Amino acid sequence: FLTLTNIQKSFGPVQVVHDFNMAIEKGEFISFLGPSGCGKTTILRMVAGFETPTGGSIVINGRDQSSLKPNQRNIGMVFQAYALFPNMNVFDNVAFGLKVAGTPKAEIEKRVKEMLDLIHLGHLGERYPYQMSGGQQQRVALARALAPKPQVLLLDEPLSALDAKIRVSLREEIRQIQQKLGITTIFVTHDQEEALSISDRVVVMNAGRADQIGTPFEIYNKPATRFVASFVGTLN
Ligand code: ATP
Repeated sequence: FLTLTNIQKSFGPVQVVHDFNMAIEKGEFISFLGPSGCGKTTILRMVAGFETPTGGSIVINGRDQSSLKPNQRNIGMVFQAYALFPNMNVFDNVAFGLKVAGTPKAEIEKRVKEMLDLIHLGHLGERYPYQMSGGQQQRVALARALAPKPQVLLLDEPLSALDAKIRVSLREEIRQIQQKLGITTIFVTHDQEEALSISDRVVVMNAGRADQIGTPFEIYNKPATRFVASFVGTLN
């Protein structure tokens, strides 16, 4: 459904992604896991269209993405934090993508209500971001990303600014919503427990290369390299 073929990315003389290949099935939840600077965010940004690959191709649902601008890609994205529009209330934040797409008003009302119910914030449509906790804001960001029914959901460290307890409950909630909608999802994180606990498959990145792509069970029990073993904490 989402195929990345021989993807490469250099910034000037520095190659930060080396020949990355992966075929992601429809409805899969994939985590990109690795330390800071390993290239995971760069891959996500290439899928979103914010960065142009130096080489290789990205195909989503049979369509080559290279000539498509970010707003033509039918992708929803949630960033680390604080990405809601501060001057808009929750309803207007979630409605934003639908308005841009010219959706009729009655349909917007219906869709936003569905989305707010999905994230259990149906009663908070009038609130402004500054009146909400970090976890609530990230749920609104998720609703905003999902409202236009994207074909792929990209999550860039969406939990890393939250405290530990909220992080665990919100990751479970994200996974439940993802499964309910069956939406193909890429989740970038440097937290191994997070990646291993909610993903169908995990990509462990090391210095611009995928050291291993496998199920959480495989990554944990059969680490392909010393790096994978040490990063997921199974190296003694
Ligand atoms: P982090 O979690 O810290 O964002 P990451 O694994 O997501 O790490 P990337 O953000 O993908 O890593 O960055 C990979 C490498 O590419 C890093 O060395 C980074 O400094 C470099 N890089 C990223 N964006 C640019 C840019 N616009 N110009 C130059 N170098 C960049």
